[in-house]
Amino acid sequence: MGRFESRRAMNNITRCLDCGSPRTADQCPACGLTSAAAEVMFRRRFMKRTGIFLAGSLAFPYISQIYPPLDLDLMLIFFGVIFFVVLAIAIVLERRARKRQEIEILKHVFSVFMLLPSILSVMLFMNGRFDSQKNLTDINATVYSRYNMPGVVLRMRRLVVRSWRNPQKYERLAVDADDYDRFKPGDEVVVAVEPGALGIPWYFGVYRR
Ligand SMILES: [Zn+2]
Repeated sequence: MGRFESRRAMNNITRCLDCGSPRTADQCPACGLTSAAAEVMFRRRFMKRTGIFLAGSLAFPYISQIYPPLDLDLMLIFFGVIFFVVLAIAIVLERRARKRQEIEILKHVFSVFMLLPSILSVMLFMNGRFDSQKNLTDINATVYSRYNMPGVVLRMRRLVVRSWRNPQKYERLAVDADDYDRFKPGDEVVVAVEPGALGIPWYFGVYRR
């Protein structure tokens, strides 16, 4: 960081990028960091948080294959929206930090949103892990159709059956490869459903009737 740049930063800056206190000089009166050092600190924390966000984002599709919620497709849409919101915030944050502009509010929004994928993943895991098999309900259903959408992180294999829940018309069961290959439209099956320890109903298995 050259002398010219730090002088320019001094003129622009209103708050410390690291601790957020208002600053009047290049060195923050609260944490003692210069604006250049504060940017380095901010960037380090930002990278760590982005890492947590990505880890949570990868955990979600993985856990959703172990304990697939009945409303998985709806959750994935919600999840996709969060993903792109966080991505957009991250890009704006990075750009503003580079220009040493005010980022206090965005920083807080980012730190809340970036935790959502991890929170959702942990919730989904606990929902299935702490559910008792005594709560299993067997439901008679007929396979209506099925579809397979290949993907790297997220591979969608769904058996579609007529829904037993109101007002839902169909259930799209997130099945594994074996179950997907085993059943065809028209097959009579039993769908085993768990209520979920956190109240998120999930699909346990599907068997031939
Ligand atoms: Zn500071």
